Amino acid sequence: MVQESMFDVIIVGGGPGGMSAAMVLGRALRTVLLIDEGEPRHAVTKASHGYLTRDGIEPDTFRTIAQQELQQYPTIQRLGDTVRAVGWEKSYFSIVTASGARWWSRRVIIATGMKETLPSIKGLKDVYGISVFPCPYCDGFERKGKSLALFVSGEKLLSFTKLLYNWSRDVIVFTNGYSEVPVAAQKECEERGIRIVTSPVKALLSHRGVLTTVVTHNGEHIARNAGFIDHPPAYVPLYIPGITHNKRHGLEGDHHGETKVKGLYVIGDAKNAFTGLIGAAAEGYEAGVEINHSLVEEDWDRRN
Ligand SMILES: Cc1cc2nc3c(=O)[nH]c(=O)nc-3n(C[C@H](O)[C@H](O)[C@H](O)COP(=O)(O)OP(=O)(O)OC[C@H]3O[C@@H](n4cnc5c(N)ncnc54)[C@H](O)[C@@H]3O)c2cc1C
Repeated sequence: MVQESMFDVIIVGGGPGGMSAAMVLGRALRTVLLIDEGEPRHAVTKASHGYLTRDGIEPDTFRTIAQQELQQYPTIQRLGDTVRAVGWEKSYFSIVTASGARWWSRRVIIATGMKETLPSIKGLKDVYGISVFPCPYCDGFERKGKSLALFVSGEKLLSFTKLLYNWSRDVIVFTNGYSEVPVAAQKECEERGIRIVTSPVKALLSHRGVLTTVVTHNGEHIARNAGFIDHPPAYVPLYIPGITHNKRHGLEGDHHGETKVKGLYVIGDAKNAFTGLIGAAAEGYEAGVEINHSLVEEDWDRRN
């Protein structure tokens, strides 16, 4: 049960970004309320890679370890709830949750991550996060040299193909019905033995989440054993009045994450669309330090 209603900092979202901010603030003796509904976007994966000392960890285990570490700090309280509204007047923020509770704080960090909408390809849900992934830096190493399907179209077609070619020379690009592939891109791919299939994808066949075949509308069955997909459309699942979105569809914030509303910060995927676990944690740490400095100054002036 949450003990107070006024906090130094309320953090919305308990992924690596939010939990890292909570730790640095809690250790700085700030009272922190971390509100998390517990539905991270990468929950579909079995293993997260690239976080030094935690490479290959299961997302659930990562969360459990982080939560256990945060529990050591009496300054940090955790609430399982969904934030519905963030408001502010003068120097205080108010937060309203789905359960109808209202909390106040001097600073707020939005660390909600993003929610994504998968394209409606039959069978994609069965393989997404198990053998088809959005990020080669996260999951490319384990698929090196495999027969890869790459689902991409439009202006990212060539750059994503080049990137994936770094991990495997056996790549087939599926544009899922998008036929306007620039001639130069076609030529560059052809020269490297990369086929571009423009027929719409009818279905992905798999066995226990492992992709086996891409079936196209023109009747082809193309064997592939893993794949990558251009980032599915994603959005920040919380409306904050007056805060604009950046080019990545995240919320606009400066390099420390502060938005144009003083004291309101945004970090991690909610700002950058795809920060990675270690990037989100780093942003949480940085915003936490920045916020504590601003509170130290405020408290110093008050006591004078
Ligand atoms: C399929 C897939 C595989 C990935 N693999 C890797 C990998 O191997 N390595 C890697 O570094 N990165 C990987 N990522 C990316 C990584 O998961 C994110 O970049 C990272 O989790 C972002 O951290 P975050 O703290 O910003 O947000 P998240 O981890 O998404 O956490 C946000 C939290 O906020 C909660 N929340 C949202 N809205 C509200 C609300 N209104 N009220 C309360 N709580 C709310 C969510 O439920 C969630 O628990 C992968 C992503 C995907 C989709």
